[in-house]
Amino acid sequence: MSNPPTAPTHAPVPVSGPKTASPPPYRLRLPGPAPVPDRVKEAMSAPVVNHRGPEFRSTLAQAQEKMQQLLGTREPVLFFASSGTGMMEASLVNTIDAGDRVLVVVNGQFGERFSSIAAALGAQVDTLEVPWGEAVDPDAVRDCVTKIDYRAVVVIHNESSTGIVNPMKDIGDALRDQATLLIADSVSGLGGIEMKQDEWGIDIVVSASQKCLMCPPGTGLVSLSAHARSLVEREGGKHCFYWDFRKALASAAKHETPFTPPTALITGLTESLQMIGEEGIPQVLRRHTRLASALRAGCVALGLSCFGQHDALSSTVVEMNVPDGLNGADIVRLLYERHRMVIAGARNKLAGKIIRLGVMGHIHEDDILRDLAQLEDVLRLLGWSCGTGAGVKAAEAVLASP
Ligand SMILES: *Cc1c(COP(=O)(O)O)cnc(C)c1O
Repeated sequence: MSNPPTAPTHAPVPVSGPKTASPPPYRLRLPGPAPVPDRVKEAMSAPVVNHRGPEFRSTLAQAQEKMQQLLGTREPVLFFASSGTGMMEASLVNTIDAGDRVLVVVNGQFGERFSSIAAALGAQVDTLEVPWGEAVDPDAVRDCVTKIDYRAVVVIHNESSTGIVNPMKDIGDALRDQATLLIADSVSGLGGIEMKQDEWGIDIVVSASQKCLMCPPGTGLVSLSAHARSLVEREGGKHCFYWDFRKALASAAKHETPFTPPTALITGLTESLQMIGEEGIPQVLRRHTRLASALRAGCVALGLSCFGQHDALSSTVVEMNVPDGLNGADIVRLLYERHRMVIAGARNKLAGKIIRLGVMGHIHEDDILRDLAQLEDVLRLLGWSCGTGAGVKAAEAVLASP
């Protein structure tokens, strides 16, 4: 790399961006929420209908069926007005009792969050700690489960705080003959990386609308295996009202929800799932892989390095190390001030050290190329030297290969 040994720590930065007649377009490049396509926006603007009438029952039936295809399940899917965290909590509140032992794999911020939720519900929580940036070893999970009788094992499928994918298929295989419940948080994975719930033996998958599902925030969803449903329906298992999966399962069988659902959002979700179906699920997943590879190659050509274990990198969150002498927060701020491009840093122990970009849902080649041009501009402004157009060129090379 052609960078000076020490980049300036206090690089001069302008307070405002270049003077232009109209501001540049707002570019939502976060690892969620993510951009919403026009087709979905139009679907959401339809008149509000009776949430228990034939029109919405038909919408919900479509959402259920299409979501089953994306999840790779024949099991029931429930929808709630909720963010992803609500579904994380609901998945536990319905299946564990105070004092139950729960194992949470922690290799990032969302694993930490899940273990906090389990603790708040009175579970006896063990964490399987994995260095941030690495994926968990399925054998390590099996070892824990053979020693202790856990009611549930919780794994983050796509750990958005580190851009790492945990091997859900192998973990499912490792736990196949165990009575423990396997819960996967695929909030930032579903729709961007592969999920085969039934084949992989995952009992509960939780997800939410605002990441690869191309909708605004506000809809949470969960799918439940027969084993999960037997726990939900266990004798004396009643700890909640709004989140009660027993009520939700009974309503879902009639294509309804127990309480008023976010009808406009679910109508939008039906449209986004229709779009995924038209493109084809394998093609959608492949697009995420290609775009994430191109974006990473472009960032590397600009002199940044990839954060994390190289054979476990996510296709939906690209996480890059910030070079020594620069601060990630400056990169994030300047991208917004100069280009209205919105990316994420970190709000945890990686703060300042990494930047994160989403490759979620409605993202295409031109988005990635624009990302790299704007990132180059900001890096240069911060005193980092990189070859003119190097990022875009490297990404184009990846995109040109079959
Ligand atoms: C975004 C996300 C969530 C949920 O966050 P909310 O803000 O509650 O929607 C949960 N888990 C992971 C891995 C996520 O990326």
